[in-house]
Amino acid sequence: MSEERTDVVVALLALIYDVPFETIIAQSSLCPKIMNALMYTAGHKYAIDTLKQEAKTNFSEAFDLEKFSSKDLSGLVSVFYSSTPSVGRGLRDRLVKAFDSVPDILDAWPRQAMDMVFAENVGFASDLFGLIEKRNLKAKTYKCLSCHTLVTMKLLASGKASRCVACGSSYYEQTWRGLLQ
Ligand SMILES: [Zn+2]
Repeated sequence: MSEERTDVVVALLALIYDVPFETIIAQSSLCPKIMNALMYTAGHKYAIDTLKQEAKTNFSEAFDLEKFSSKDLSGLVSVFYSSTPSVGRGLRDRLVKAFDSVPDILDAWPRQAMDMVFAENVGFASDLFGLIEKRNLKAKTYKCLSCHTLVTMKLLASGKASRCVACGSSYYEQTWRGLLQ
């Protein structure tokens, strides 16, 4: 039994014995934000509406990714992608969108840790890169960093540098996004 599953089972048992929800979250060995997400998904999976309602109060914190350490981010992805196959697309879509809205997080994530998360959660990698590519398929206007020309273009997929159509300078997606008009 994984650490996460053990925590959920312990928490579900505690709920049966009327231990307050906040106490359960506080006593867990997992990060409270992750524990909340786990309890929400457990409530969904086992159709325990009261549990879902309790967890929902603090649930949106699970998507406040800027407050996560990289270790906790890895945990969060695993919770959503490996522990809860029956929860459906909604939660995963929300998580992927949260990642996409703060691209700095991907840059700050240690490469090795990120590779491990992608390897262990193949669905996450394809969802995330699928969203990034879909976003980039739309042509947008950027002000080139070196020639200051307004150029309208589609960025290349994540990991490839895109060239300014006016002067040929190439920058990664991250830089272009900061130059969006
Ligand atoms: Zn240029």
